[in-house]
Amino acid sequence: MASKRKADEQADQPLQEYRRKRRFAQTPEPEGMPGAEPSAPAEPPAEAELLYVIHKHDASRLHYDLRLELDGVLKSWAVPKGPCLDPSQKRLAVHVEDHPIEYGTFEGIIPAGEYGGGTVMLWDEGFWQPLGDPAESYRNGTMRFRLLGRKLKGDWKLVRFRDRSDKGDNWLLIKAKDDQARPLAKIDILVESPDSITTGRTLEQIAREQPPRR
Ligand code: MN
Repeated sequence: MASKRKADEQADQPLQEYRRKRRFAQTPEPEGMPGAEPSAPAEPPAEAELLYVIHKHDASRLHYDLRLELDGVLKSWAVPKGPCLDPSQKRLAVHVEDHPIEYGTFEGIIPAGEYGGGTVMLWDEGFWQPLGDPAESYRNGTMRFRLLGRKLKGDWKLVRFRDRSDKGDNWLLIKAKDDQARPLAKIDILVESPDSITTGRTLEQIAREQPPRR
C-alpha cells in the first residue's frame, strides 16, 4: 500500500508503476492496453459516465480499494477499514498507483507471492459524478463527488492530509451529510452487504471457485 505519488506523476506513460509491480505471466490481473496507451481526451463529453468500483481485497490485510475513473485510468485508494455511511466516520484512504480501466471488472485470485497476493472481490460498482472539476480537485487533494453505485450512493469527500511528513499519500474518505447517510450504530454497510456485487460470492467462494482465466 506504500505510495509513490512522485514517481507516478513523473512517469512518462500511464500505468507504468502498475505494470512495474506485477508479473502478468503470473497474475490474472489485466495488463491494461499495453499497445495503445490511453491519452486523456481533450474534450470528454459533458455527460460522460465515469466508472466507479470498490474491490474488497483479502491480501496480507483485508482492505477495500476505491477506484474512480479519471483521465483514462482508475485512480485508486486503499481504505483499510472500508467505506462508512456515517458522516462522523473519517476513513483513512491511502493513495496507490493508477489501475487500468479493465481492472473495473476484475474479480479473482492474485497468486501468493505476487504483488497484492490474495482474493479480490468486486464489492461495489457503478458510476461517479465529480462535483467540481475532477482533475483540478484531484490535484488539489479535495474531491467532492456523487456515487451512483449499487451499494454506495449519495455524496462523498476525499481529502488529502495536509501534513505528509509520514511519507505516505494519505487521504480521508468521508460520507457527506445527505439522505443516503446512515449512523454507524444503525447500519454498517460492510457487515450488511459483505458479498460480491456481480456474482454474489463471498471471499471464501471466490477463493474456492475461481472462474477460468479469460
Ligand atoms: Mn488492494
